[in-house]
Amino acid sequence: MKIVYVDNNATTKVDEKVVEEMVPCLTENYGNPSSMHDMGGNAGKILKKARKRVASIINAHPEEIIFTSCGTESNNAAILSALKQNPEKKHIVTTMVEHPAVKSLCESLSNDGYRTTFVPVDNMGRLDLDKLYSSLSDETAIVSIMWANNETGTIFPIKEIAEKVKEKGILFHTDAVQAVGKLKVDAVDTPFDMLSLSGHKLHAPKGVGVLYVRQGVKFSPLLIGGHQERSYRGGTENIASIVALGKACDIATSFYEDENTRVKALRDKLETGLTSVIPRTLINGDVDSRLPNTTSISFEFIEGESILLMMNEYGICASSGSACTSGSLEPSHVLRAMGIPFTAAHGTIRFSLSRYNTESEIDYIIEKLPPVIKRLRDMSPFWKE
Ligand code: PLP
Repeated sequence: MKIVYVDNNATTKVDEKVVEEMVPCLTENYGNPSSMHDMGGNAGKILKKARKRVASIINAHPEEIIFTSCGTESNNAAILSALKQNPEKKHIVTTMVEHPAVKSLCESLSNDGYRTTFVPVDNMGRLDLDKLYSSLSDETAIVSIMWANNETGTIFPIKEIAEKVKEKGILFHTDAVQAVGKLKVDAVDTPFDMLSLSGHKLHAPKGVGVLYVRQGVKFSPLLIGGHQERSYRGGTENIASIVALGKACDIATSFYEDENTRVKALRDKLETGLTSVIPRTLINGDVDSRLPNTTSISFEFIEGESILLMMNEYGICASSGSACTSGSLEPSHVLRAMGIPFTAAHGTIRFSLSRYNTESEIDYIIEKLPPVIKRLRDMSPFWKE
């Protein structure tokens, strides 16, 4: 069956050139970089090259890169390090629309005596910056704010926020898992102290991530063990996946233009193609400040899960705006925070494109989806033409 994969904010296809570079690390250069022999030395050199490549995608120094297992680990490590470094400060600032890798951690920290301010957003997903700045105090250990939202693609003004937070001398972390590889992220231009990224969102494999920690920022490791990663993260490095991430970062920089022209044009074509023929649709998020590959569309009066299942029959892979991972049909916390009415939030589909998508795939979705929506609405007791 034809497959049209438009779920790239969930995960991406590993680039073949990336696979080519990672295979020899499994079959030939499989040494442990901490070993004294030549095999270990080779692995160490490979690791060094990958670290340099990854650093360069965010214009950082290689020593500021800590390899982790995923974006979730990086986010946890950043926040928990800030709390450990500042034991007298019991306040965290984040947003209502963070990924669970930040949101759930902050919620669980309330059991350990921490207080979190979850800064609200408006109905376009834009952050209430006044509330953010007025929440900062001497008690605040860290501010953690995502660069771009995984569901709506809304991009927050991270440079401005980082500057304001740093003026107050507070640690600033950004979850840039959805941004790196799609947008230019620059550690010289934007004064974040820590930044998280994840390999599988930019055509590297799952199971490798990075925490950037700016030189001079005091850090307490999450995983305590051997002296790997300058003792910032114990555990033998996952060399094959780290090499893959290095290559993926190299390739991503050469695709920025494609992402922001061709991919964006395909996303726009998809959006217009659907919303111009299907009545009662809403586009969620800040259309003036959005990832070029993402569109979140609400089809009122039907269930996102039903749309997904019917699209799946045509080989179209996308995501809904429901918290389906938890087995609940509650609309996502992001859409709820934006105040999207339940009747729309329930019928929300996120399409997230990549460099592998083609115009004919977009035409295919535009052809197949409108009759699916009509069929579902015809069955809905709430729908009236
Ligand atoms: N942060 C954001 C914004 C994400 O979209 C994701 C994954 O979807 C994560 C963090 C978690 O990354 P990982 O799957 O590598 O743990």
